[in-house]
Amino acid sequence: MAALLEVDRLRVEFPTRHGKLLALDDVSFHIEAGEILGVVGESGAGKSLTGAAIIGLLEPPGRVAGGEIRLEGERIDNLTEAQWRHVRGRRIGAIFQDPLTSLNPLYTVGQQLVETIVTHLPLSAAEARVRAVDLLRKTGIPAPEARVDQYPHQFSGGMRQRVVIALALAAEPRLIVADEPTTALDVSIQAQIIALLRQLAKEQGTAVMLVTHDMGVIAETCDRVAVMYAGRVVEIGPVQQVLHAPAHPYTQGLMGAIPVMGESRDRLLQIDGSMPRLNAMPEGCAFHPRCDRATEHCRQARPTLLRAGPTSAACWLLRDAQAEVAA
Ligand code: SF4
Ligand code: MG
Repeated sequence: MAALLEVDRLRVEFPTRHGKLLALDDVSFHIEAGEILGVVGESGAGKSLTGAAIIGLLEPPGRVAGGEIRLEGERIDNLTEAQWRHVRGRRIGAIFQDPLTSLNPLYTVGQQLVETIVTHLPLSAAEARVRAVDLLRKTGIPAPEARVDQYPHQFSGGMRQRVVIALALAAEPRLIVADEPTTALDVSIQAQIIALLRQLAKEQGTAVMLVTHDMGVIAETCDRVAVMYAGRVVEIGPVQQVLHAPAHPYTQGLMGAIPVMGESRDRLLQIDGSMPRLNAMPEGCAFHPRCDRATEHCRQARPTLLRAGPTSAACWLLRDAQAEVAA
């Protein structure tokens, strides 16, 4: 059976005066119902762009130039804006970093929830209000019967993000795309929001794509993780494997850069240099200028994802390792 979400060789381009910039190239992954896939990487790696392509909100002139995105087996990469209105909100919910961008300050949270519910579900306004209160309760908002009639500014940052989650869940979507949903929040609130997302995914079978640059959040929340670099997935696999036994030199560097409590700082590994710009992408493996294991082959030929036990990574070292095993 097909996975709930399938992203298959996705390419996203931005036409410019100097030619096309390839912002996402050959991005493939899937997410099962009830599963949380973390998407991690430095800013500019293509994490948010991947999320935007999935919810049909690529900023023009950015466009899907190849590959497919399928939700429950149906293509969603080629929908018109009219078709998107039945998908976005209804079948895919979105949560962004800043709750204020998702909420209208002029309406009560109840009015906004009811509006979303009656747009997508066959419920009366009165039934939708009951559901709105229920959603606020489910997302951990105390006294939801009273809070439902309040305005966004009457909520704290953490409570507002819960309202955004309630709004994203309002029409029972099968998939939630959450882009840095906790980055603007205090650490203690972050943990609560993350626990809430996890609980909802498990209880309701919602699939979640969680975009973050925070490895702690990934470790706490995700089942699998995809690591992006320069517009491509360079490693993907079960979270424990990727965090503790990463196969790609870039992931190894990322993991080495996380301070581990109780360990001395000299364990910290820094990756020298910075990610290449889209208009100055190196030949071969995009990571080669920063990789201390790069060979001449790496500078010429671009690796595709190769299996390495439970994970897959785009690195020639894996092919060499496989060849050694076979020899
Ligand atoms: Fe480093 Fe080569 Fe692997 Fe790229 S393919 S990450 S340059 S070893
Ligand atoms: Mg981003």
